[in-house]
Amino acid sequence: MTGNRRWTLARYPEGRLGERDFALLCDTDEMPALTPGEVLVLNRMFAVAPTIRNWLRPASTSQRAAIPVGGTIRGMAACDVMASADPDYPVGTRMIAMSEWADRGVIRPAKAPVPVFRVPEGMDFAEAMGPLSLNSLTAYFGLLEVGRPRAGETVVVSGAAGSVGSVVCQIARIKGCRVIGIAGGAEKCARVVAVGKADAAIDYRAEDVCQRLRELCPEGIDVFFDNVGGEQLRAALDCMAPHGRVVACGQISTYDQGAAVQTGLDMMKVVYGRIRIEGFVVGDFVDRADEARSQLAAWVRSGALEVAVDLRRGLDQLPRALVDLFSGANRGTVLVVND
Ligand code: NAP
Repeated sequence: MTGNRRWTLARYPEGRLGERDFALLCDTDEMPALTPGEVLVLNRMFAVAPTIRNWLRPASTSQRAAIPVGGTIRGMAACDVMASADPDYPVGTRMIAMSEWADRGVIRPAKAPVPVFRVPEGMDFAEAMGPLSLNSLTAYFGLLEVGRPRAGETVVVSGAAGSVGSVVCQIARIKGCRVIGIAGGAEKCARVVAVGKADAAIDYRAEDVCQRLRELCPEGIDVFFDNVGGEQLRAALDCMAPHGRVVACGQISTYDQGAAVQTGLDMMKVVYGRIRIEGFVVGDFVDRADEARSQLAAWVRSGALEVAVDLRRGLDQLPRALVDLFSGANRGTVLVVND
């Protein structure tokens, strides 16, 4: 066995996350002996998620624990079990699990913070981490169970060219809704319409979002699926239809600053408009993951759903991939292959 490379937190990021905030180490020691319930995994592919940024501060602003300086970065990975002290996960098991940004690592599947998904025979890692990923499940349950759109309603999606957002747009279209996506830049807006099948897109970098929402949604927004927060949330709240629903999925515009960002929301609009604002995490729906995956797979097969994967190669690319989510340099679901 060769050395085990792993990415650690070099320092707490100040403001905008940068590659300098990470350090690559290589352990030459043998991996420790497994205790009952543990498995040794080879990390083959990583899913890079914005919420990792929320763990990179002294007190985490996420439901998951903070990563200390010097600690190894955690993240979802597609792994092969190389050695096992858990009979339910024998050598050769292929799974998606919360792992570490490392070549290899020890995990305890029965006590995993995110339930382990055993990748069924015939499904490859790219499919399990792309169209059938936790991000796609997030889009599925967030829109259908929290937003509860009805055919003919207007759905607005922020972060609409991204991994979660693009799937939300497409599911909303499948359900017969009118869809407006918000994204950064002309090229991404074109993708929101071409791939996301939205009726229109708003370029928040070049346009007045509030004004464009008023023009495009004269009857108001029935469902606002929010991945971004901040200014875009404020603009959408100004345009909600009576009894509108705001799906609070993520707040990426605030992650570099921490959670205590002043929103300046006019909450009386929520009162008079009878607006429901509801947060959720995809883990709330883990018992129904099979249902969602089989529906998503059927939509992919029929051509109704297209999931763009932004594939990077090499463990050394992980920090860059995470940083790119905050500049908008990613083009869809970011996966990093460890080859
Ligand atoms: P993504 O949308 O594929 O990538 C992030 C995108 O966010 C960037 O491409 C960029 O798009 C946009 N962005 C970054 N910084 C921004 C800023 N300051 N202002 C406006 N837009 C900004 O990422 P994802 O993995 O699909 O995640 C999307 C959201 O879902 C995140 O908020 C994430 O935390 C959340 N999420 C929630 C759950 C849950 O269970 N609730 C699960 C998964 C993900 P532009 O180029 O268009 O700006």
